[in-house]
Formats: sequence, C-alpha cells, structure tokens
Amino acid sequence: MQTGNIKKLVIVGGGTAGWMAASLLAKLMGRQLDITLIESDDIGTVGVGEATIPPIQIFNSALGLNEDEFLKATMGTFKLGIQFENWGAVGDKYMHAFGPIGRQLGMVPFQHYWLRAKAEGYGGDLWDFSFNYQAGKQDRFARLKQIPNSPLEGIVHAFHFDAGLYARYLRKGAEGFGVERIEGMITDVSLDGQSGNIQSVTLKDGKVVDGDFFIDCSGFRSLLMGQALGVGYTDWTGWLPCDRAVAVPAENGPRMRPYTQSIAHAAGWQWRIPLQHRAGNGHVFCSDYMSEDEATSILLNSLEGKPLADPRTIPFRTGRREKFWHKNCICMGLSSGFLEPLESTSIHLIQNSIVRFVQMFPGLGEQPTNVDEYNQQVGFEFESIRDFIILHYNATSRTDSPFWQRCREMEIPESLQQKIELFRETGRIFRFNNELFSEAGWLQVMLGQGITPKAYHPMADGLEEAKLREYLHNLKTIIDGAVGKLPSQKDFIAANCSAPENAG
Ligand SMILES: Cc1cc2nc3c(=O)[nH]c(=O)nc-3n(C[C@H](O)[C@H](O)[C@H](O)COP(=O)(O)OP(=O)(O)OC[C@H]3O[C@@H](n4cnc5c(N)ncnc54)[C@H](O)[C@@H]3O)c2cc1C
Repeated sequence: MQTGNIKKLVIVGGGTAGWMAASLLAKLMGRQLDITLIESDDIGTVGVGEATIPPIQIFNSALGLNEDEFLKATMGTFKLGIQFENWGAVGDKYMHAFGPIGRQLGMVPFQHYWLRAKAEGYGGDLWDFSFNYQAGKQDRFARLKQIPNSPLEGIVHAFHFDAGLYARYLRKGAEGFGVERIEGMITDVSLDGQSGNIQSVTLKDGKVVDGDFFIDCSGFRSLLMGQALGVGYTDWTGWLPCDRAVAVPAENGPRMRPYTQSIAHAAGWQWRIPLQHRAGNGHVFCSDYMSEDEATSILLNSLEGKPLADPRTIPFRTGRREKFWHKNCICMGLSSGFLEPLESTSIHLIQNSIVRFVQMFPGLGEQPTNVDEYNQQVGFEFESIRDFIILHYNATSRTDSPFWQRCREMEIPESLQQKIELFRETGRIFRFNNELFSEAGWLQVMLGQGITPKAYHPMADGLEEAKLREYLHNLKTIIDGAVGKLPSQKDFIAANCSAPENAG
C-alpha cells in the first residue's frame, strides 16, 4: 500500500486517544510510516474513561490483543450494560443492556408483539426478554455467543478497565510496532506560511519535531486543531448542561456487578464502575445548579467502599470541534469534542476516528472531497450520539429540582424530537444511517424513561393470542434457563483473567 504524501506522522498526546491511534496505525502501517508520539509527563492525562461499549472488542482484536491478557493488564471487568437509577422519576430503575431484546418475528420487530401482549395484560416486563439484563441482575457472566440449542444471541459484552493501565498496555504494543515516543512539553507549533499546514512542533527543551501529518490527541487543550489551526468549537451546553465531574477511586463494594451504574442526583448523576482492584466513581454535575462542595459531598456519601484518593474536579464543556480534519491534521479524543460520559461513548469515538482515518488515508495530492467526507461522517457520529444522550435528560417526569425542570422543558434537536414522536405514536424505531445505537438501545431508554407508545404495528395482531403467549413464554424460559447456568462474574474472572496482585 502506498501512503501518498505522508511518510512521517506525528501524534501529539499520550492519553487513551494517542496510544489507541499509535498502536492501530503502527500495526497497520508501521512499515510504511514513521510514527512519533509526543506526550508530557508534567501535563499528564485526564485519568478517567473506564467504561466502554461492545465495539471495543473489534478494536482490541484488530490489534491482536488476547482478551484475558488485556483484562489482567488493565484490572478489567465485564460490562453488560448501564443501569440508570432515578432518571425517569426518583426511585425508577432500568437498564440499557447490550444485545437484543426478544427476537423479531418475521418482519415485525419484537417490541410490537410485546406491546400488544402488554395491552392484553400478559406481556410481563420488557427486560424479561434481555439475556444481558437477566445475567447482569444476578452478577453473572460467561462468554457465550449463542444460547445453546436456541436461535437466541448470547451475551454481548464490553469492559470496564483502568484507563491509565490501558494506555500503558497499548504503549508497550505500539513501541513494539516501532512507534517512537518522545517525552516533553510542546511549547510552539509552526505553520507553513503558504499552505497553513503544520510543519513542526517545538518542545520546551528546544527539540523540533517535524512531520507530514499530525494527529491532535492533546486532550481538552486541543493544542493543534483548536489552538494552532484555530478550528472553532460548537457548544452543546444548551442541551447537555453538565460542565464538571468530581472523580474519586474507592474500594469495591460487596458485589461485583457486571454493569455500570448511573445514578441521577439533583443536578447531574453519579457513576460507579467496578474494576478488579477498586471502583471508579464520579459525580457529573452542572455548576449553575450545584456547588463543587455539594457535588463532592454527595459523591463521598454514596461510595460503597473507602475512598482511595482525594476527590478531584474535572471541568469540561460539551460540544464538538467544527472540523475534525483540517489542513494536514486530524483531531480525536477530547481535543475533538466531548459529550457526556453517560453512555461511555468517548473511547468509541476515538476508535471510529482511527478506523475512518485508515479508510480515508490521504493519497497523493490534495483530496478535498476525502476531507469533507471524513468531517461529515465524524460529525454525524457525534450528533447521533448527542441526541441519544439528550434523550436521557429530557425524557423525565422529575420536577424535584430546577436542573431537572430545565432539562424537561428544554427544546431538543428536531432529529430527536422526530424519533421520540414516531415511537410515541407508533412504537416504531429506525436506526438512521447506521448510527451507533441500535433500535434495542433506543427502545430501552425511551421505555425506561417513561415514553409509552400509543400503538404497535398492526401486523402484531396477526398472531393468535395462544401462540403469542407461548412465544413469549418460550423466550423467557430459554433466557432464564441459560442465565441459571452462567457462573458469577467473580468466579469467571478468577478462573480466566484475574490480575496478579501487583498488576496495578
Ligand atoms: C469525567 C469524565 C468521564 C469519562 N468517562 C468515560 C467513560 O466512562 N468512557 C469513555 O469512553 N470515555 C470517558 N471519558 C472520556 C475519556 O476520558 C477520553 O475520551 C479518553 O481518556 C481520551 O482522552 P485523550 O487521550 O483525548 O486526552 P488526555 O487523556 O487528556 O491526554 C492528553 C495527552 O496530551 C498530552 N499533551 C497535552 N498538551 C501537551 C503539550 N503541550 N505537550 C505535550 N503533550 C501534551 C498530555 O500529556 C496527554 O498525554 C470521560 C471523560 C471525562 C472528562
């Protein structure tokens, strides 16, 4: 494969984004490209980002990582979904579980049959038909692609891991593939006077590193794309108003849940992420409605184990960079924008940007359409995830605090409004343009937060009642039977991927 004009690639930043980019690009193109990564120990990394979604398995396997070894190295655990508490109303609980819900019959999606059964008084709970939810609820896990002797999909999993250890693990692999790492703080960026392209970066010690192409993984600073190239930022705080998180690691509680917990409070929400050696905890909040002291005290009072460090606050502004590729530079990770960590999508966005960059790797000469296509695709990805996250805030009946009142009453993007209305009127959900979240994801969050359809697909009435009852009963029996045979997550980890005592 030829690499067009690019022979020397410089990655600025050694957080999750930088090392993910370095490792995959070096694995795929290390022989044609000379890759350098610059990171500053003095600046450090953001140090959060511990929950993922299932496509990360594709990324890890593209790198050739062995899943058990990766989990040992990162103190990882398994994640089957996210449990949302107090979101639709105080006291409510539901899960956005990965994987399918029930099984489509013919051309009609499962929820229509379930909605009909509900209307007739025997549908049970939607999550009776989610294998992931039922396993998660009982803290069980095993790798199972299919439920044996059935047509039903098995467990669909992602991971919780220590983000710092993940970056360290990837670094080892990337350096093995030939990436040169330079430690030092960049103090200057030189642009070519004619083209406006980045020519080089200068470090504090005077060292100059030049390159043909640059990847900005410098975190919220956005050193190249934002600062040097002046690409603006589209602010989404009108829809996603939280602007701070207090984070603190703590000892694990008594259970090892195979899911993330997201517990809503008066002006935001709290995460609990169980790792092998500790739990990651944080409270995301909106500083217009809550002080840092109050947010910290809510967090510390709701830990399941002793805190292991002092809490620290991370300010952020939700939104996206106006362009993700400009001149001879792309940005990814926090330098490209930040949505809420609510659905654990940031690491996924990094992964997608790397894969897209590989797919659209610049050839010889100027290729403006290629750049436009990249910007359009990454922009769409950001916007569709944004809509999904706004749904969680907006679809609530909470009126107990000014923050929730504001979220309920805010005007939402038309794209989201249309999706909600269609579901409310017809029970229908369509995944638009291969967007990240599936119909099953939208279904769980909409129903879980109290949006109830007025109707279902008329074809769902075509099945005799006895047959529908039997169908639902069989699905539930298969799922319950299979869950009963799964080991606990604790036992599964102990048998397969327990980290050595000193791995952290
Ligand atoms: C509160 C919070 C919770 C989150 N939770 C999740 C989650 O559960 N799941 C998820 O997928 N994502 C989550 N994220 C996002 C996730 O943390 C990031 O997407 C991920 O860590 C990538 O960060 P990064 O590499 O872009 O930036 P950083 O980790 O900030 O790394 C920036 C790098 O750039 C370097 N750098 C910066 N300036 C210079 C300079 N002048 N010279 C040299 N080097 C420089 C730094 O040294 C560092 O190496 C969360 C984010 C926040 C804020």
